[in-house]
Amino acid sequence: MQETYLHYLWEQKRLPFHELKLTDQRALSVHRTGLLNTGSGPDFFDGRIAIDQVNLAGNIELHIRSSDWYRHGHQHDPGYQNTILHVVYEHDQEVYIKGQAIPCLEIKKYIDPVHHKHFRRLDPTGIHIPCERFINSVQPVHIMDQIEKMAIKRLERKAHFLNSQYELCHGDHLHILYQSYASSFGQRINELPFLELSNKIPLTRAWRLQLDEAKSLYLGVAGFFQTDRYPELKPYESTWKHLRHKYQLDEMELSSWKYKGLRPVSAAHQRVLQFAEFCTIPHFFERETLFSETLFLHFYNQLKSRYLSQHLIINTIAPYLWWLGKNTGKPQLNEQALKLLQQSAPEQNHIIRFWQQFDFEIKTSFETQGFLELKNEFCQKKKCLSCKIGNQILRP
Ligand code: SF4
Repeated sequence: MQETYLHYLWEQKRLPFHELKLTDQRALSVHRTGLLNTGSGPDFFDGRIAIDQVNLAGNIELHIRSSDWYRHGHQHDPGYQNTILHVVYEHDQEVYIKGQAIPCLEIKKYIDPVHHKHFRRLDPTGIHIPCERFINSVQPVHIMDQIEKMAIKRLERKAHFLNSQYELCHGDHLHILYQSYASSFGQRINELPFLELSNKIPLTRAWRLQLDEAKSLYLGVAGFFQTDRYPELKPYESTWKHLRHKYQLDEMELSSWKYKGLRPVSAAHQRVLQFAEFCTIPHFFERETLFSETLFLHFYNQLKSRYLSQHLIINTIAPYLWWLGKNTGKPQLNEQALKLLQQSAPEQNHIIRFWQQFDFEIKTSFETQGFLELKNEFCQKKKCLSCKIGNQILRP
């Protein structure tokens, strides 16, 4: 038995609420199950119950066994003093607050074994996702509902990160876009060093430099002149020495950059060179460009890479516009973010290939973003009970 399953039964009212009896045989009526609390403290806040027709309001705690109350140390935590009901799978010990026994509901006998069997089947058993054997029985409309929800969640999650960056840079919208580009150029593997690089070099400084100076500056700050490993970078070194002296610049640790698993064209120093050139062009930071119908071509003409151009639209521009829309209260920016994703071709990676084996038709990057989020944030964290697909599978 898992506590999350008990939470699910309680929250979804999947118990015979009309005939519940406490362990001391008093009749229990549940008027409100309370609000599920995912932080510290009791499991459900502000429930409303009646015991033998006496109304009570307060918190409700759920456990596998009633003795878990003491095992978890709740007797020492004032946050649990207002517990009006203890819901347990198995009652193995009386529990007291200030000498008074907490009303206890044992639900073992009320659980539908067939439902529980279905639930257990959702448990991971070494296959890719817990519901792998059942997902094809779910109507596509429910799957796409969940995917849409996940795609929005993904945008929200990225916007949340941008918000924290926004506070750090004291409300500079342009710097946020610059950082978002930086993290996309780094992809997952070099995202952090790219962010550090963009924090060390103000964008406006890049705009004031000639192209070769900008390349020297980014390569130098990134630390690539600390080694002789890249002879092709030698032509930039003397300019770097001059700039370092002029602006009193620090260098990053060369070991910050990762190379493993990257093709030569995506190697860290090559990406930094590309990024330096990209940042010297103010056009990529202008609002008109972000709203352009031919945004992909703007990127492609500069970067000569379909993959990187699409990656920037999906991972920089759409989350940036989504965040900016929320931050400035302009819903047209949020609509533009969604439109960009809905008009972009689907990405290809091992997670999307995994979903395609179920014959889902995945036509846009809005959908691929949803499928990625579902796998990473729900399936892998076993949040099946919060997932519409899981709930459809569990339906009687
Ligand atoms: S979270 Fe949803 S899609 Fe993922 S395994 Fe669970 S039920 Fe399936």
